[in-house]
Amino acid sequence: MGIRNKCGGPIYDCGEMQWLWCWRCKSEMPMLDEAEYSEVHRLYGEGMRATKEYRQKWGLPLSGIEPTIRMKPLLDRYEQITGMRETNPNAVMHHRLSL
Ligand SMILES: [Zn+2]
Repeated sequence: MGIRNKCGGPIYDCGEMQWLWCWRCKSEMPMLDEAEYSEVHRLYGEGMRATKEYRQKWGLPLSGIEPTIRMKPLLDRYEQITGMRETNPNAVMHHRLSL
C-alpha cells in the first residue's frame, strides 16, 4: 500500500491540502495557499491572453472556445496541486485560503 490520502491518490503534496467549506460551491473544497494561488492566478492570466490571441487570429467569438480548453493549463495545475478535477476555471479562482 502506498500512501493515499483523501484526494484519492498518491499525489505528492496533496496531504498538505486544506479542505474548507466553500459557500459558493456548497461543498468542502481544496483551498490554495498563497504560493499555489499565485501560480494558478498566473496561468489564469496566460489562459485569458492566449484566448484573446486565438480569437483575434481566427476571428472566433469567446463562446466558441470551451473554458475547459482555454484554461486547460490552469485546470491541470489545480488538479496536480489538489488531486481534484475541476472544470470551472472561475471555481478554481475562488478556492483561495486567504479569502
Ligand atoms: Zn468554491
